[in-house]
Amino acid sequence: MEVFDLNGRKGLIAGIANEHSLAYAAARRLRSAGADLAITYLNDKAKPFVEPLARDLAAPIFLPCDVAVPGQLDAVFDAIRAQWGRLDFLFHAIAFAPKADLQGRLTDCSAEGFAQAMLISCHSLIRMCHLAEPLMDEGGSVITLSYYGAEKVVDHYNVMGPVKAALESSVRYLAHELGGKRIRVNAISAGAVKTRAASGIAHFDDLLDESAKAAPLHRLIEPDDVGRMALALMSEYGAGVTGEVLYVDAGMHIEGMVLR
Ligand code: NAD
Repeated sequence: MEVFDLNGRKGLIAGIANEHSLAYAAARRLRSAGADLAITYLNDKAKPFVEPLARDLAAPIFLPCDVAVPGQLDAVFDAIRAQWGRLDFLFHAIAFAPKADLQGRLTDCSAEGFAQAMLISCHSLIRMCHLAEPLMDEGGSVITLSYYGAEKVVDHYNVMGPVKAALESSVRYLAHELGGKRIRVNAISAGAVKTRAASGIAHFDDLLDESAKAAPLHRLIEPDDVGRMALALMSEYGAGVTGEVLYVDAGMHIEGMVLR
């Protein structure tokens, strides 16, 4: 019988805010396949929401990580090196843009807001790959999360559109550079899901309604749709896939002009 078996594999999950987080759905699937997980939380305010989830996941490494605070990401990798000596996979589910820039037109986006959004939502993936590379000496798998607004204009997605476009391009360059070490880098382009991060996007409920109507499967995705794809990609079943943007969006991205 075919099963996903990640027993003995070690992975870092960055981006759990609460039980609705896409990263939590991925973490649950990866843990139930046997992987040991290092879990990070943003700061003291986030810790009480993430700590019980990390406990349920039996995470042996649980550390703060605000990628905008110098030294915190390095400390996470120091702990992984000290405790495990290696890393097999990395799940990056981090995004942020200041509210004024996120909810305003791209035309009016500040330089500071653009830089901060890029640093936290895109360059953090690059830094994680840089720190993971020496620990993935037997190969590895990296996944980040993107959205359709990277490639087509989605009302109210604003500055996150170009930021996710940069993220998807980074995935291809990282996959190219790290492929020789058997490190695979992919993005999952997830459909709209009501999470904490999504609540910062104006008119998000309308986006949910339209997404469900537009999708060939006539439904929204569940966080676990992302969780299951993450499990497949992290396992041997994804061994031939790198540099890819995989859509887990109930098919929404294929639709062009549809007359109703
Ligand atoms: P979420 O709010 O649960 O997760 C976002 C995470 O980003 C939080 O854990 C937060 O702590 C973290 N974060 C923000 N700033 C950070 C920083 N400076 N340092 C470290 N971590 C930081 O929401 P989510 O929807 O699960 O988001 C996860 C990823 O999925 C994001 O990249 C998001 O863009 C992407 N995504 C979400 C949707 C959706 O509709 N929810 C769709 C496609 C892609």
